[in-house]
Amino acid sequence: MVALDVAFYTLGCKVNQYETEAIMELFQQRGYNIVDYNDAADVYIINTCTVTSRGDAKSRALIRKALKKNENAVIAVVGCYPQTSPEEVISIPGVDIIAGTDEKSRIVDLVEDYLRNHSKIINIKDIRKNRKFERLSVLKNRDRTRAYIKIEDGCDLYCTYCIVPYARGPVRSKPYEEVMDEARKLANEGFKEVVITGIHISSYGKDLGNVGLLDVLRGINDIEGICRIRLSSLEPRILTEDNIKEITSLEKLCRFFHISLQSGSDETLRRMHRRYTADEYRQIVYNLRKYIPDAGIATDIMVGFPGETDEEFKESYNFVKEMNFSHMHVFQYSPRKGTKAYEYEGQVEKKVKEERSRMMIELAREMKVGFNRRFIGTTMDVLFENDTGDGIYEGLTDNYIRVLAKGDESMRNIILPAKLLNLNGLDVVGEIV
Ligand code: SF4
Repeated sequence: MVALDVAFYTLGCKVNQYETEAIMELFQQRGYNIVDYNDAADVYIINTCTVTSRGDAKSRALIRKALKKNENAVIAVVGCYPQTSPEEVISIPGVDIIAGTDEKSRIVDLVEDYLRNHSKIINIKDIRKNRKFERLSVLKNRDRTRAYIKIEDGCDLYCTYCIVPYARGPVRSKPYEEVMDEARKLANEGFKEVVITGIHISSYGKDLGNVGLLDVLRGINDIEGICRIRLSSLEPRILTEDNIKEITSLEKLCRFFHISLQSGSDETLRRMHRRYTADEYRQIVYNLRKYIPDAGIATDIMVGFPGETDEEFKESYNFVKEMNFSHMHVFQYSPRKGTKAYEYEGQVEKKVKEERSRMMIELAREMKVGFNRRFIGTTMDVLFENDTGDGIYEGLTDNYIRVLAKGDESMRNIILPAKLLNLNGLDVVGEIV
């Protein structure tokens, strides 16, 4: 039998990227060829995101694009978009298979069922009742320095703007031993850095009972061959003073913390059902800087949440400025049907959101440049990754400064000391010392 070509497209978060890679491995194990999404393929898999309405529109455009390449192709739409809007997705012309967020490990079987029977497949379960972590792992060497380990899925917090608990279901954790096993295998494959990822990693272990995120960090810290552990986004309240002190003893843990803020106004935070105040958040950032002075601290900020007045926005803006983050992602509120905030009064006009977003993005840029400037003249360890052209390699310091330095192929996937010489936009130019 001639091997079929399968193409993938991933929208959204790192968890989705991880899951696509895991699905790719499953297809390869069954003898399929992986091809580029721009090529004509027999099967197209679109791993979707539904956090904003833009994600839904993009998924529809990708379906059209696949059909243009091959009108007879099998089109499978998987993940958050069909999970939350199954009728809408299955009725898009050309879609043959839809599968929810906990059905990703079954995609190969579903595609093969479709190839045999040619009748549409709808594989969506009530995710809110799911208590099992879906086994997926990514172990092959993908010619990169950094590997992701998904340790958890789902979220129980129901922030009022967020569709994720409906799309991903409750917290489910990968058993501790399986996490360690995956990390050991990645170390054997030569990966230097692992990124701990999940939908809400701060909740890791809640469903297992006797382990938590710190146990995972301690365990991976002891694995030979892994040099760096990076964390994806953290819930502020996990960073108690005791936990921060404990973290300082883990020498492989990167000094980079993404702590989702969303707003610096207590009134907005209350309406968002975030479970901290600006003051509590301030204390966490204060403690982090007290124990880990050079830490990069990143955040997400949302503008234009329903009812966000000029006054609240100003409070949020000033708070962000005071926190002086090293990185900040700015989002405009996007109403998602099914969430509480969708029903809230006081939806903010598009042009007001855009102006607030512009101001925050400008501030993000200033803060980032200011953070990078602090390290000019110092020597820092950089894990080099890619050749950007002309023999210039880029890599990251552990506190997430992107450094560009002259070198050659032998630098790839190696941690080298580099002196940081000068700023280059949002990056820094350095030289190996
Ligand atoms: S913590 Fe809030 S914003 Fe984050 S995934 Fe859970 S519900 Fe969504």
